[in-house]
Amino acid sequence: MSESPLFLLAEHTTLGVGGPAAHWREARTHVEIQAALAWASERGLSTVVLGGGSNVLAADRGIDGLVLRLRNAKLQASRAGDVARITVGAGMNWDAFVAWTVAEGFSGLECLSGIPGEVGAAPLQNIGAYGQEAGRVIRRVEVVDRATGATEELSQEACEFGYRESIFKTKLAERFIVVEVEFELSKGPALVAYGELERALENEPEPSLLRVRETVLNLRRAKSMLLDPSDPNGRSAGSFFVNPGVSHHEADAVEERARALAVHAPMPRFTQGAKQKLSAGWLIEHSGLTKGTRRGQVGLSTKHCLAVVNHGGATAEEIVKFATEIRQRVRDTFGVTLTPEPRPLGFLPGELAALYD
Ligand SMILES: Cc1cc2nc3c(=O)[nH]c(=O)nc-3n(C[C@H](O)[C@H](O)[C@H](O)COP(=O)(O)OP(=O)(O)OC[C@H]3O[C@@H](n4cnc5c(N)ncnc54)[C@H](O)[C@@H]3O)c2cc1C
Repeated sequence: MSESPLFLLAEHTTLGVGGPAAHWREARTHVEIQAALAWASERGLSTVVLGGGSNVLAADRGIDGLVLRLRNAKLQASRAGDVARITVGAGMNWDAFVAWTVAEGFSGLECLSGIPGEVGAAPLQNIGAYGQEAGRVIRRVEVVDRATGATEELSQEACEFGYRESIFKTKLAERFIVVEVEFELSKGPALVAYGELERALENEPEPSLLRVRETVLNLRRAKSMLLDPSDPNGRSAGSFFVNPGVSHHEADAVEERARALAVHAPMPRFTQGAKQKLSAGWLIEHSGLTKGTRRGQVGLSTKHCLAVVNHGGATAEEIVKFATEIRQRVRDTFGVTLTPEPRPLGFLPGELAALYD
């Protein structure tokens, strides 16, 4: 394990905000994770796991507990015919893993190319993009219980994957540290079943896994959804709000409100189970907060309305204020309450009530 005197969260989060962590350590093995948890517990400190910092909103005051970073990045594959079980350490870079699967000819993750962060965070919100979700090919998640230090295994079913959701965000939130994830992937063709991707590849009847990966990376680059320090829209947490799921009746009511406001652009709505999934970006844009809207050093991406961008030097407080304004505006305009996607770190209970409740 290693520890350094200063760990500024702003330097380890893609939104570029957050004060110092009182303590931080790196762990490579179960034993090191357990030792770090025991070290924090003996001192009455809380432990926060930080991966790539691409889906967190860290408080300006920082964190007075322990920030733990996992550095186990092993990849082990056992193959049987065209199928492989691949066990990947939580600390491996997500996109490096996806690139490996594509190079090996395994389909199932190619559409998730370019998502920032590490493998350990992937099950938490069941990362998804362009018609694929990680949870569909995750077979097992190995975790350490924060309270007892014991190792446990959760099956795919036990993880209760849903849209940007899993048991790690709901019933078992904050209980486990994900140590490794086992995926089951098969050799096979790429998935092209998402409008934007289909259009980009319409002249290529059977694109290879690599072609789909490249196309997804290009689409993401065009929307500033890749980590790129030279991109003026690049300092974000990706989508700041998840697409809301509402009843049919509520979706009709939102459409009705849009008509009354003379919004001519058709409202995207998709059936997902018993719910209608609406587009958070569309709702934001048509509530009057258009692309590029700025409040000082914080703003909406100029490429799309779903990313809140730190244009340099913004504080977490300013981001919270702007995101709360967006949420209020959408609620006032359409009667829909948006849920933020980044996980808050270091805020006091109740401090973010207007944004997260
Ligand atoms: C430009 C951009 C584009 C993005 N596009 C997408 C997208 O298309 N689809 C999508 O789903 N997401 C997207 N995201 C969000 C983000 O990349 C993913 O949610 C990613 O999985 C977060 O990984 P991370 O390692 O950065 O996690 P972090 O941000 O470090 O952590 C996120 C949460 O997970 C917890 N956590 C992290 N690692 C562990 C672990 N090992 N065990 C237990 N808890 C852990 C943290 O405590 C925190 O609560 C995007 C983000 C950015 C910045």
